[in-house]
Amino acid sequence: MRRSTRRSYLKRQQHGLARKRQIAGTLEEWRASAFEHALEQFDEAARRLKLRDNQIAMIKLPRRITEVRLPVRMDDGTIRNFRAFRVQHNIARGPAKGGIRFHQDVNVDEVKALAFWMTYKCAVVGIPMGGAKGGVVVDPGKLSPGERERLSRRYMAEMIDLFGPDRDVPAPDVNTGPQVMSWMMDTYIMHKHDFLPGVITGKPVGLGGSEGRRSATSLGVLFCVRKAAQRLGLQLKGATATVQGFGNVGSYAAQLLAQDGVRVVAISDVEGAWRNDDGIDIRAAMNHVARRGSLRGFRGGVRMLSAAKLLELPVDILVPAALENQITGGNAARVRAQIIAEGANGPTTPDADRILAKRGAFVIPDILCNAGGVTVSYLEWVQNRMGYYWTEERVNQDLKRYMDHAFDVVYDTMKKRRVSMRVAAFMVAIQRVTEASEMRGLYA
Ligand code: GLU
Repeated sequence: MRRSTRRSYLKRQQHGLARKRQIAGTLEEWRASAFEHALEQFDEAARRLKLRDNQIAMIKLPRRITEVRLPVRMDDGTIRNFRAFRVQHNIARGPAKGGIRFHQDVNVDEVKALAFWMTYKCAVVGIPMGGAKGGVVVDPGKLSPGERERLSRRYMAEMIDLFGPDRDVPAPDVNTGPQVMSWMMDTYIMHKHDFLPGVITGKPVGLGGSEGRRSATSLGVLFCVRKAAQRLGLQLKGATATVQGFGNVGSYAAQLLAQDGVRVVAISDVEGAWRNDDGIDIRAAMNHVARRGSLRGFRGGVRMLSAAKLLELPVDILVPAALENQITGGNAARVRAQIIAEGANGPTTPDADRILAKRGAFVIPDILCNAGGVTVSYLEWVQNRMGYYWTEERVNQDLKRYMDHAFDVVYDTMKKRRVSMRVAAFMVAIQRVTEASEMRGLYA
């Protein structure tokens, strides 16, 4: 490497590291993968449950990891390969279930962690499905609609034998939505020659999707926040909140909280964070994103110098609804919210959990808090299978029943076993997966 090139390379490296430190707290934590965090969460709950080694051997690690390269023809005629994954973690309680994310930083350990969380998420809310997750290493913002379609179709075609309504049922996740689901469903149906919309969930309503699916994750977050506030004696009307991430989960969560009278004083997305102590006009922010694709240029608040500082604002409720590893050993001591409602998967590291617990913060863990999405995915799958479709009112009523019941069971376990809400949620979920796995027994 030429010296000047090398110098600028090192500079970029240093800059990159500084940024990662800023985001993740310490470098140690940044290196530790989400999957290690997930296993640490498992071990603590398994210890409290006094699980035997043979029980752990059946349910802790992913059952099947698939990695492929997807060749896609770009608009300029060149062919590019994209790395893609599907991890099926556990199928003891039903077909594998979990979204597919498109993101430039996806790696196999992250997908393993996300698949693991899906297993226990489905178990904690009591829907009859296992856990899986998919990912493609791509910055979808850099693809044309045609390129995105070819990538989505190739993902399904390349791994088609993994999928099926009784096998593995994907759904949206970060940077994927109803359109990507439609292309994948169509690809599956074209291969199988059977109209099987239950192969995938999160489809548009006009194509076998369910009413209420789009806002389901956020509505689940709201139901959890309401319950937590009730237990803590916090009035939601007049309370304050910050929401990190303004995708499908963050935007609807902000809107629903605002409808309950909560003042959302800061929001953020990949472009930065915006603050307005009088309360951000969430509808205006959503309209802005619908028009411009992101919050860049949003005038409904002052742009914060550091987006990471959003997590540290003095509010009653913090909703991390972006990516993993946001609340870490490096910043948890400065996080001041009373309720932390995890809209994202894995936003809090185990180190941060310990710091938050010491202060007495009430963390509603991801596998409970954001389970509304997969719960309505399940309801969509049920509707697909019977070919009869419910009203949004009916769907939301069922969603509330699942979420409220799961919250109460976890809360009672927390009280009875004197553990955190996260450990309690894992204890409830692990118990259910263990039971199913033992009842089935080991084949051959
Ligand atoms: N991607 C969402 C999650 O992380 C939804 C998964 C699904 O609906 O299967 O829970």
